[in-house]
Amino acid sequence: MENTKELRTWLNDMQLSHPLVIAGPCSAETEEQVLKIAHELKDSDVNYYRAGIWKPRTRPGNFEGVGALGLKWLQKVKEETGMKTCTEVANATHVKLAIEHDVDLLWIGARSTVSPFIMQELADALEGTDKIVLVKNPVNPDLALWLGGIERLYSANIKKLGAIHRGFSTYEKSKYRNIPEWQLAIEFQNRFPDLPLICDPSHITGKRDMVFDVSQMALDLNFDGLMIETHIDPDNAWSDAAQQVTPDTLKQMMIDLRVRKETTSDKSYRESLENLRAQINVVDNQLIDILGKRMKIADKIGALKKEKNVAVLQSKRWNEILGNMILEGEDRGLSEEFVLKMFKAIHQESINHQEKIIKG
Ligand code: PEP
Ligand code: MN
Repeated sequence: MENTKELRTWLNDMQLSHPLVIAGPCSAETEEQVLKIAHELKDSDVNYYRAGIWKPRTRPGNFEGVGALGLKWLQKVKEETGMKTCTEVANATHVKLAIEHDVDLLWIGARSTVSPFIMQELADALEGTDKIVLVKNPVNPDLALWLGGIERLYSANIKKLGAIHRGFSTYEKSKYRNIPEWQLAIEFQNRFPDLPLICDPSHITGKRDMVFDVSQMALDLNFDGLMIETHIDPDNAWSDAAQQVTPDTLKQMMIDLRVRKETTSDKSYRESLENLRAQINVVDNQLIDILGKRMKIADKIGALKKEKNVAVLQSKRWNEILGNMILEGEDRGLSEEFVLKMFKAIHQESINHQEKIIKG
């Protein structure tokens, strides 16, 4: 992708005084529901009204969307409220129907981004379109698949592009429905700095009372916008009931969220920041140094185990370490989730070191 600056043009042209906001229900359910929510969102910061028409469901038997009929309801939304509309497309037929019904922005869902075949089909169907196309991250934390999806669309001469971070599925216990893995989103920003990046806190959290905090986190990380599922009667929504917020909650969130400036020329701020960053650099170097020392000790243990022909993995000892470190971490304000993750990584590295010694 050469001329990436042009990727921001569609967003810059909107001249927004706030982050881009996409809101509306997870699914279009009835004409009345779609229009009611739209009317409630009409006089707000919402830029695009979303509603899923074709719903990718993990298990069969759940509500799979109203289908093309819902596109007529979105047309009515536009006529009655003036709001622009968007929906998810997952195959060439969806693309054709959505464009015929004048949907303004199309997004590609997480279950489509995982498949290069689907992405290529969509890129071919959308070739040369001047609609805005946003690509959600794939379900699994694979940056290359996400980047690859964007590249396929770019190669099909689609220039109004953007990405949506909606978290990644995990088998591990987590308070999130899809863990955010912020470092992956940051890496994505580094790779495509000009590509507008939008956060979908609804699918990250899966719970409406966590949506605000994740939205704030995204804005603190300079995301360009938010996609938030919004429903007049969230508890009775036909899909994703637990994560949808009411239009009133959404409007209040838009007031309460703090939009941070990317940077400021304020001199004392800059000096303090430089100083704190320097301190962080020192501590980071110490961390690496200490980890190196820990691995040297692991090597010695490996040598001892080799001599006595003892197994590398000693589960009891490992559980003791973990238990202690979680308590120590708590005293220092570190979450259990973080301590567990960090020590799992350290432990794995220790095992690798010991294996090497034993084999060698
Ligand atoms: C959605 O936006 O309703 C949706 C299905 O999202 P995702 O593709 O992120 O699961
Ligand atoms: Mn949803």
